[in-house]
Amino acid sequence: MPAAVPAAAARLSALARVTASGRRDRDRLVRARDARLVEVVRHTAAHSPWYRRLWQEAGCEPSSVRTAGDLAGFPLVSKTMVRADVEQILTPAARARGVRSAPTSGSTGEPLVVPHDPASAAVLDAVWARSHLAYGLRPHHRTAYFRNLPSSPTLTERLGIFRAEHLDIDAPDARLAARLRELRPHVLGGYPSHILELLDRLGPDRVSGLGIRWVTTGAETLTEDARREIADGVGARVVDLYGTIEFGCIAFECALGTRHLNDDAVLVEVLDDDGRPVPEGSPGELVVTGLYGAAMPFVRYRIGDRGTVDSRPCGCGRPLRRMTSLEGRGASAVLTTGGQRITGARLCAHLREIPTLRRYQVAQTSLTDLVVRIIPDPGTDQATAQAVREAVRRQFGSEVSIEIDLVERIERTAGGKVPDIIPMPS
Ligand SMILES: [Zn+2]
Repeated sequence: MPAAVPAAAARLSALARVTASGRRDRDRLVRARDARLVEVVRHTAAHSPWYRRLWQEAGCEPSSVRTAGDLAGFPLVSKTMVRADVEQILTPAARARGVRSAPTSGSTGEPLVVPHDPASAAVLDAVWARSHLAYGLRPHHRTAYFRNLPSSPTLTERLGIFRAEHLDIDAPDARLAARLRELRPHVLGGYPSHILELLDRLGPDRVSGLGIRWVTTGAETLTEDARREIADGVGARVVDLYGTIEFGCIAFECALGTRHLNDDAVLVEVLDDDGRPVPEGSPGELVVTGLYGAAMPFVRYRIGDRGTVDSRPCGCGRPLRRMTSLEGRGASAVLTTGGQRITGARLCAHLREIPTLRRYQVAQTSLTDLVVRIIPDPGTDQATAQAVREAVRRQFGSEVSIEIDLVERIERTAGGKVPDIIPMPS
């Protein structure tokens, strides 16, 4: 029997379990989640020397964890801490057969290679599949997506259902257009910057004629502006998926447009600046614990994003909480000389009032120096540059030097993203 057959069976059974879990009532889901959490904490304490020491030094007792609330006193874990001690964090499951490893996009530094044991990988794939089914994707639909980082094909791709084809954003315009016409995808996926670049390069007429029904975005913050521009340009519904290599799909959008957390696969906490839970419905820092990830545990991980969560029920009937805001993917905030934090969303709100500004990127090179790269509409270079200078000046005050660079293209980072905001190097 080929090795792929038991693997496929394991994954289909994971999909069945995950689908059933997403239909439970909230109380049952919470009980099942807490049972997973107890298992994760126990496994991590037993097999990850780094966490064992971290928790011991903080005086935290892993066996005392019974529910999500019991994690409150446990230390938060940052990317820097993880990157410095990866070998000590890994458990023996990271060295087992069939481990799947993938690098993170490294938007805030060097990529981190995250291994997933086969059982966890099957569940995470199933959660991704459930998240795609939620907006309407069906097995006969074809997806074309831009991806900058290599990854192994998922089960469904290997089985030829949910057919998916990778596209290369760096291919010449004519080849991209031909590939899309050939494939006629129902879904177009990628970072918001990929889709906007495609619309810029091929023009909305050539893209909207393709009959694409959904555009799925991820990895970068999707501003309301970008969502509208993509929906109008492609002529499709835009669905934002929030996922990472560490945790798989964290949040997805149901057919009613509500963004739901995958509460049965990740435990998401929303904390204030002092590390205390914010009142429900208030924004705060997102801290995430992976409920599937035996090879490399992430317990109370500061993912670098901010968001708002509440548990008002949704008309779709899912027991999964809502995430009503999500901001700052890739740490998109800059500081003023007065120490004020300006998020990408706030700065964008001012720049989007400039009708001739097509694309931009704000890079903070020091506390007093900003470089703003812009692509204006043809023939409006000087007027657009002046309007951008004034808009940025209003946010940052007169003590900041603003350099405006007119560019033809805004370059991608090593991880393939095009952030609106590049914070000061720390
Ligand atoms: Zn819903």
